[in-house]
Amino acid sequence: MTELHMSPEVRALLGPEGLARAAEVSLVDGTCVYCRTRLEGTVNMVVRTNGTFVHVVYVHAACGPSEVVPLPADHQPPVPANGYDMTMTAAVLDHGGTNLPVLVAETVAKAYAFDGSSGPGPMPELTNAVISSLLGDGFTLISRIRQAPPQIPEWVGVLLLGHGPAGEDGLLVLDPEGGKFYAGSVELPSSWLPAAAHYGWAVLYVGDVGLAELRGDDKAAVKALRTAAQAGRLVGARIAIGTPAPNTAA
Ligand SMILES: [Zn+2]
Repeated sequence: MTELHMSPEVRALLGPEGLARAAEVSLVDGTCVYCRTRLEGTVNMVVRTNGTFVHVVYVHAACGPSEVVPLPADHQPPVPANGYDMTMTAAVLDHGGTNLPVLVAETVAKAYAFDGSSGPGPMPELTNAVISSLLGDGFTLISRIRQAPPQIPEWVGVLLLGHGPAGEDGLLVLDPEGGKFYAGSVELPSSWLPAAAHYGWAVLYVGDVGLAELRGDDKAAVKALRTAAQAGRLVGARIAIGTPAPNTAA
């Protein structure tokens, strides 16, 4: 169990909207940006900013304080292929009466661009830098969970069955340039592989959904996705899924 702590300077910088967003973040599966081990216990929020964007990250209380860290003026927000710390949830979810294989990626650290704001003080609006970047890559802004969004060419999810760091199932999601959008473990429900094999694709949703705590509860997962979609905080695309032959040597 983790408890999130934000210092007064962090609260003042983020303003009410930023604080509300920060409170929605799931720290499950998150790692400390300083020591790179799993977050647990008291977690401090660190905000890096240069007046153009803010990058919200999390550290152990023992590793550093909750503070605002200035960035160089020319610093750009990290792009998705930089390897954000992400949670990935696989599920087979109802879309208007059809059960579709779904992957939901949620970044643990968040990067937000300032939107039309100048000078110090709380920003009027925060634009999620990962979502902006994916929209530029052809992802669709999702408003409801009914139909699969259009497929985007050259994005692919490669399943590495039984080849994760601890022998679990792994997943690699690659963008058209071969950048690793996601590389890590994934828990596949038993119906997921047959569904993905049937379609040859899965729906990749990216946003702030809070699914890590809802794994195994498909109805609650659809509801959480719907809520994120209605808030304009969910993008999605169909991506091709490649499944290597099962590892018979294991
Ligand atoms: Zn740490």
